[in-house]
Amino acid sequence: MTDNEGHHHRITVPIGKVREDPWSAQKAYAQRILPAPFAELIAKTKQPFIQAITDVDIMRPCQFGGKLLIVGDALSTFRPHVGSSTNQAALNALFLEKAMKGEMTFEQWEQQCLDYARVTSLTSVAWGNKNQFGFRIFLWSAVCLLWARLTVVLRAPKSILPALGL
Ligand SMILES: Cc1cc2nc3c(=O)[nH]c(=O)nc-3n(C[C@H](O)[C@H](O)[C@H](O)COP(=O)(O)OP(=O)(O)OC[C@H]3O[C@@H](n4cnc5c(N)ncnc54)[C@H](O)[C@@H]3O)c2cc1C
Repeated sequence: MTDNEGHHHRITVPIGKVREDPWSAQKAYAQRILPAPFAELIAKTKQPFIQAITDVDIMRPCQFGGKLLIVGDALSTFRPHVGSSTNQAALNALFLEKAMKGEMTFEQWEQQCLDYARVTSLTSVAWGNKNQFGFRIFLWSAVCLLWARLTVVLRAPKSILPALGL
């Protein structure tokens, strides 16, 4: 992304740096496609910034035998459609309390964090694909999501399923 001073940005174009041409085009697009209250919000936004949406998933959040634990966005980023990213950071911390009290092992901590991350990440991808690319792409994402949910439901302890949203 190129800002109003010609500099390139990979992830974020900060406040005050968004070029006028694409921002005007985006406001006109919003007026065409969004319901009136949201179109008004866009039209009245004085200080826009741009944040690229990326997918990140790591395979092993528990490193060095439990001495290094990777949580929250660093473990898995979700697309914003599910609004669950803060949930994940909180859930990882709640599970961590159990691990530190000896109520679950660090292997269980890792598995349950990964289960939540995988199911929620795939849910966010499915909704993102539906909103951006339509129903056919959504169907493929939905099949992946159903498979992930099924494997988690069959494997995870029943008591933990509500915390995982299952
Ligand atoms: C614009 C925007 C809107 C959002 N809206 C929502 C929403 O509506 N609902 C929702 O659930 N989530 C939302 N999120 C996502 C949510 O903010 C994150 O998922 C959440 O903050 C992740 O928490 P975290 O603790 O994993 O990471 P962070 O909150 O990013 O915390 C990481 C911390 O580590 C610090 N840090 C980084 N590098 C170092 C270093 N080398 N040394 C020391 N400290 C370091 C950072 O400064 C930061 O304070 C939104 C995010 C953005 C950007």
